[in-house]
Amino acid sequence: MHLTDLWKPGRRPSLSFELFPARTPAGRDKLFGTIDELGGLAPDFVSVTFGAGGSTRDGSRELVQWLKQEKRHEVLAYFAGYGLPPSDVSAVLDAYRDLGVENVLAVRGDEPRDAPDFEPHPDSFAYASDLVAFVRPRYPFCLGVAGYPEKHVQAVSRDSDLEVLKRKLDLGAEFVISNYFYDNRYFVEFRELCRARGISVPIVAGIMPIYSIKLTASLAAMCGATIPDSVRAALASLPEGDKDAISAYGVELALEQCRGLLREGVAGLHLYTMDRSASAKVIVSRLRDEGLL
Ligand SMILES: Cc1cc2nc3c(=O)[nH]c(=O)nc-3n(C[C@H](O)[C@H](O)[C@H](O)COP(=O)(O)OP(=O)(O)OC[C@H]3O[C@@H](n4cnc5c(N)ncnc54)[C@H](O)[C@@H]3O)c2cc1C
Repeated sequence: MHLTDLWKPGRRPSLSFELFPARTPAGRDKLFGTIDELGGLAPDFVSVTFGAGGSTRDGSRELVQWLKQEKRHEVLAYFAGYGLPPSDVSAVLDAYRDLGVENVLAVRGDEPRDAPDFEPHPDSFAYASDLVAFVRPRYPFCLGVAGYPEKHVQAVSRDSDLEVLKRKLDLGAEFVISNYFYDNRYFVEFRELCRARGISVPIVAGIMPIYSIKLTASLAAMCGATIPDSVRAALASLPEGDKDAISAYGVELALEQCRGLLREGVAGLHLYTMDRSASAKVIVSRLRDEGLL
């Protein structure tokens, strides 16, 4: 199924989960448990990340295969082209096509942080738009791209970042999944600015529940998501190191965001699970109990 079918007029908002491949056999067993838990929530699709420079190439492919063939999930395979020559891009995408993958999210990727000696291939694509231009005529995938409600961290301006997004879509991408944000106003304004530029494709909102203060702070700094003062203050008021209290607050915040986004008529909710199921389970069950999803 092409994911764009999910966002046809009259359909309910989509629900999806992001997963990344485990690094160890123990992590893999745990991930399989998480997948079973999340599968019980009947998502419309699940996505699998791809480490830039091909760092998770085998793990990503194996996870995609498991999700598709064993668990019968609709899969959105992310692909980060950074550092790879076009021949490797083709090899990865050929393998995905042969597994029956129909949906790919084309992102640029970043310099790997844990591989200081990593040398990008001289023919690697500089930007996601180059990757979209390469993939579009060669593969029948339904193609998505990343969008940034608060602009990408390296973008010179919000305007130039929206131009970049428009270029990716003009080159043949068909939908957008957003980076996460902790204030819905960023998303709503971003979507308005997109529409004003003639970007009419579905824009799915990325939601990252807070799982731990440290993780949230480091990820938000890396990807440029603002942590509002109200959220900082609420986190500071929780008993230090109380993981349950922190995730319970994270669930309430994400729920409030989801409710607001659903009221705004969002195309879909994409939960960044960090390979955990507990928060997603509560969020989705409560939204369903409230008749919102
Ligand atoms: C939903 C989602 C999924 C992701 N999945 C992964 C993943 O699986 N693996 C991974 O490694 N990373 C992933 N990322 C992170 C992503 O790779 C980084 O955010 C990366 O820094 C940018 O990727 P992009 O596709 O947005 O790049 P681009 O669209 O190429 O943009 C990157 C930067 O360059 C600028 N730019 C683009 N084109 C030009 C141009 N022609 N001239 C000048 N400036 C330009 C943009 O404004 C932006 O600042 C994901 C991000 C999101 C939001």
